[in-house]
Amino acid sequence: MSAARPRVLILGGGFGGLHLVRHLERRLRHGEADVALVDRSNYSLFSPLLYQVATGELPPHAVAYPLRVPLARAGFRFVRSEVEAIDVEARTVRTADGDLPYDLLVIALGSETNDYGIPGVSEHAVSLKWMEDGRRVRHRILSTFESAAIERNAEKRREMLSFVVAGAGPVGVELSASMRDLMDHTLRWIYPTIDFRHEPSITLIDGADRILPAMDARLAGIAARRLERLGVRMLVRTFVSEIGPTYVRTQDGRTLPAHTSVWAGGVRTIPVVARTALAHDDRGRIVADAFFRARGRDDVIAFGDAAHVEQDGKALPQLAQVAVLEAPAVAENVARLLRHEPLLAYRHKRKGDLIALGRTSAAAEFARPVHLVLSGLPAWTVWRTNYLMQLVGARNRGTLLVEWLLSYFSRRIVTDIA
Ligand SMILES: Cc1cc2nc3c(=O)[nH]c(=O)nc-3n(C[C@H](O)[C@H](O)[C@H](O)COP(=O)(O)OP(=O)(O)OC[C@H]3O[C@@H](n4cnc5c(N)ncnc54)[C@H](O)[C@@H]3O)c2cc1C
Repeated sequence: MSAARPRVLILGGGFGGLHLVRHLERRLRHGEADVALVDRSNYSLFSPLLYQVATGELPPHAVAYPLRVPLARAGFRFVRSEVEAIDVEARTVRTADGDLPYDLLVIALGSETNDYGIPGVSEHAVSLKWMEDGRRVRHRILSTFESAAIERNAEKRREMLSFVVAGAGPVGVELSASMRDLMDHTLRWIYPTIDFRHEPSITLIDGADRILPAMDARLAGIAARRLERLGVRMLVRTFVSEIGPTYVRTQDGRTLPAHTSVWAGGVRTIPVVARTALAHDDRGRIVADAFFRARGRDDVIAFGDAAHVEQDGKALPQLAQVAVLEAPAVAENVARLLRHEPLLAYRHKRKGDLIALGRTSAAAEFARPVHLVLSGLPAWTVWRTNYLMQLVGARNRGTLLVEWLLSYFSRRIVTDIA
């Protein structure tokens, strides 16, 4: 570390960056380092609840936590800018607003939507990754219903109200269930000219042989039964080959009507991370050791979705749960690197998975202390409590609680405001 006060630069204020800051505040001594965090947004997005913004259960501000608050409290600096390049030899990060030198760099830039080069995905489908996506999906749903409400031809209405969600991971499953709830509990009352039993359709597609392929099979079974009951059509072992303005084509030659297509097919490494001169895995993630050091370097740390951290021969999954659990260990090793102390190896302990399945229904799998799977109202209660606890900031928690109560006992948010 060259400077009198070493400069620690954190890239990304998502799950990893935000929780790292909160742990560094406790871990570093006053004035021990100049810490700055760069993000293109001045808030940290709680993406697991983004689908609720898309389906009018929550307003956008409920899932966005202002990054300046924890940074100001810790005496750290916030820079709102786009990271354009990382020069690890010159120890400089180029941003849209100038260069930022560092002594120790922490890369927590996450990932971005992967369209796998499938024709039409980026042009015609909406994805669900950033806040603008959540707003865009809600706008597409509401404007579609507005148009359908004044369409007199029932066949045309059915076509207009065809929704396809591509990707049956947690995002696609939770979104599909919540879209159906939005229709059944709110839209049904305000669009009297639409026959909600027969006209709107939601089709969920995945190439794997079951929905939620990365999760416990029992959890996936609960989710599949619930979606079936809600009337969501599931097509598994089905690969999307093209998305058009009003259709989705599949590799087995089918053309499905899809006036609105939502792409929830997965993520890839963001280009600025993939371009950095560090060791990468075959998906472009930075290869980091058990101490989170980018391979061969003592001055670059990577974690969260942007990093490939291996345990028992497998890379840890790209999940908020992983980034949040890694953050205190990263903070510990940042402090140790600054103090030239031996580093501590990280050991990941998976907690389990939670899937919301619409109104009062969810599925929960606990990995510890005993392996247990719950469904229905108990799982839903665990799910809600868990997210309420995980959200950072009293204001956000209060908003979440009030908005959930309002959406449950009243109707969802259906004003089509950008
Ligand atoms: C809709 C959705 C639902 C999800 N649900 C779950 C769930 O239920 N459970 C779960 O465990 N995981 C879930 N995930 C995955 C989870 O969100 C990610 O694994 C997690 O966000 C990774 O944390 P991170 O800190 O690595 O990256 P992120 O949280 O994505 O943070 C990256 C940050 O970097 C910033 N950034 C990126 N590029 C640049 C740039 N060039 N310049 C400046 N800033 C930049 C972004 O603005 C962002 O704030 C979900 C993801 C999505 C999209």
